[in-house]
Amino acid sequence: MKLARLNKGPEIFHTIQGEGVSAGLPATFIRASRCNLHCRWCDTDYTWNFEGTPWTHDFDAQANYRKYRKSEVTIELDPAQIAEHVLKYPTRRVVLTGGEPLLQQQGWIELIQLLRQTDPAFFFEVETNATRMPSAEFSDAVNQFNVSPKLANSGMDEAIRIMPDVLQHLATNPKAWFKFVATSSADLEEIELLAKRFALPPGRVLLMPEGRTSAELDRHGSKLAAAALARGWRYCDRLHVRLWGDKRGV
Ligand code: SF4
Repeated sequence: MKLARLNKGPEIFHTIQGEGVSAGLPATFIRASRCNLHCRWCDTDYTWNFEGTPWTHDFDAQANYRKYRKSEVTIELDPAQIAEHVLKYPTRRVVLTGGEPLLQQQGWIELIQLLRQTDPAFFFEVETNATRMPSAEFSDAVNQFNVSPKLANSGMDEAIRIMPDVLQHLATNPKAWFKFVATSSADLEEIELLAKRFALPPGRVLLMPEGRTSAELDRHGSKLAAAALARGWRYCDRLHVRLWGDKRGV
């Protein structure tokens, strides 16, 4: 499987889940490399913004930013090797993140089977941008989908970032929660339209501010919390940003 490389090894680390419905719980994160989208504000751009791609990113404006050499930011491991890393940590909650994890479903299925053979208590969350359809086997294997459809603020056309068949499918899956990154009134209007169009259950919709620092989160937080209250949605913060900023591997 293609994972993000951190220093000389894979980006697999033990921390607390910072976002979404499981925020605050201890978890082991496994970061997949590769994404089929290219959000302008993506904070894991090293999983997809490789040398030679045409994508633009907010970081382009920074003098020292350059696209990543694929071989420097990618590492290949098979599911058994990944399981060895996961078993070093005490938690049984595992977050499959990326990049876009659903690009490698078969590998995750093998990993999940291996880990559950070791301990049936393993619980798997998967984070997805909802543009790839989960297979029936993958849906059965994971316990929770953290679905994060991308809005116009990501800088991509709707035809690329909204896949109606996938969202319709996930909307009826009781394992799925829908987390939207928002800052503006325009974002809120767009989320309302998507929630209505795909009949997303209000109790499973979460609003989360965009931000890589506590100050950025604070700038939008109170407005979004009020909007969530008014609509019967949840509000969620980014605890890892508050605790560790944009540091990788924590
Ligand atoms: S879908 Fe997620 S990983 Fe992919 S570019 Fe957007 S924010 Fe980054």
